[in-house]
Amino acid sequence: MAFAAQSERLAFFSTASFHHMPSPSVAIVGAGLSGALCAQRLSQAGWRVQVFDKSRGVGGRMATRRVGFIGPDGVDRIALFDHGAPAFAWPEPSLNDATWLQNARAAGVIAPWVTSVPSHEPVGAMAWVPTPDMPALCRWLLQGQAVQTLCTIDGLQRSGRGWRLTRSGQTAGEGFDALVVAIPPAQAALLLNPHRSDWAQEAQHQAMSPCWTLMAVTDAPEGPEGLMPGQAPMAAGLDQRQGVQAAAPSHPPLASIIRQDTKPGRGALPRGMAAWVAHANLRWTQDHLEEAPEVVLPLLQGALQAALGSELRWHHAAVHRWRYAQFEGTAQPRKCLWDQDLGLGVCGDAWGGGGVWGASASASALCSMMLRR
Ligand SMILES: Cc1cc2nc3c(=O)[nH]c(=O)nc-3n(C[C@H](O)[C@H](O)[C@H](O)COP(=O)(O)OP(=O)(O)OC[C@H]3O[C@@H](n4cnc5c(N)ncnc54)[C@H](O)[C@@H]3O)c2cc1C
Repeated sequence: MAFAAQSERLAFFSTASFHHMPSPSVAIVGAGLSGALCAQRLSQAGWRVQVFDKSRGVGGRMATRRVGFIGPDGVDRIALFDHGAPAFAWPEPSLNDATWLQNARAAGVIAPWVTSVPSHEPVGAMAWVPTPDMPALCRWLLQGQAVQTLCTIDGLQRSGRGWRLTRSGQTAGEGFDALVVAIPPAQAALLLNPHRSDWAQEAQHQAMSPCWTLMAVTDAPEGPEGLMPGQAPMAAGLDQRQGVQAAAPSHPPLASIIRQDTKPGRGALPRGMAAWVAHANLRWTQDHLEEAPEVVLPLLQGALQAALGSELRWHHAAVHRWRYAQFEGTAQPRKCLWDQDLGLGVCGDAWGGGGVWGASASASALCSMMLRR
């Protein structure tokens, strides 16, 4: 570790520990699931919490885009696209361990979604979907918390007065006893480097896959529920590790095709219209990563049309590139990073093994360390 950071450490308060403080303060950078879970658990334990996020809303990669378009009838309409995680699976054995999941279920913030799968699969896959949109889960976890959105934290300083967070050289918040960094690892590395260069290096080596995503409204194709026979809504990325069978369509370059308006709580489109989210597979995304959206859009439209097997009438189409969509590495036993002397913690899906489940496991591990007596 750099000398500067070590001497700074000596000058800082002795964190013999937070539980001697009546109400320690903590800044959390990132209002995705891992940051939101930390905020809830730490505030329940009596900490004063302030959350910062660079986006307009909370939820991170549990995201929903709301788009206005003009329907074939000439009427202005709204479509919702869950263009990040479409849903999440939870390993059956640990279903009862996650209190927040049980509470969210009881509060009606998440709903079960049994997706139909191609005919050769024995059963539909079960997943959880926040309603009425993906960020609803984090909004619910963060209710009553101090959350500052549209605030990109690009600097962290630490002195005898605690942690100070800056954006574009200006103070965004200061005087925090502890700091939690709950953002994807490549972005976390930049913030961590002056304080724990070893963690920054570790973060830089976390393998995150990118994903090009198509969001579209079309006329509904022929077939049951507006789907062509054999083309069912599918949940992306619900992998074996998380206890649910993946349902991968045989239509490269698409890894998944999801009929948005069949998801729980999303509200139907007028009869004869369908909203789609289609995720390109990893290989194709990597090959087209630096292409302009105008180049990628017609290619993915062509792929969706080929997959659905019929000429589509398009009412809306756009693409989104996730540079850091999902963790692709191997889960490590250490699910978070915590430096008691610095009062600095790191969590997020990549540290917890990937996906929503990993984000939750990581946040839970970090809070347990922070609250340890
Ligand atoms: C296309 C796609 C498909 C997916 N499919 C699945 C799936 O099927 N199943 C599953 O379990 N998971 C899936 N995931 C992954 C899942 O969404 C994530 O694992 C989980 O949401 C990560 O939560 P997190 O809190 O760790 O990070 P994030 O959700 O990324 O939250 C980080 C937050 O930090 C904010 N932030 C970043 N940098 C800064 C900064 N400098 N200052 C302030 N704020 C900052 C961001 O705006 C964001 O809100 C998918 C993701 C994508 C993109």
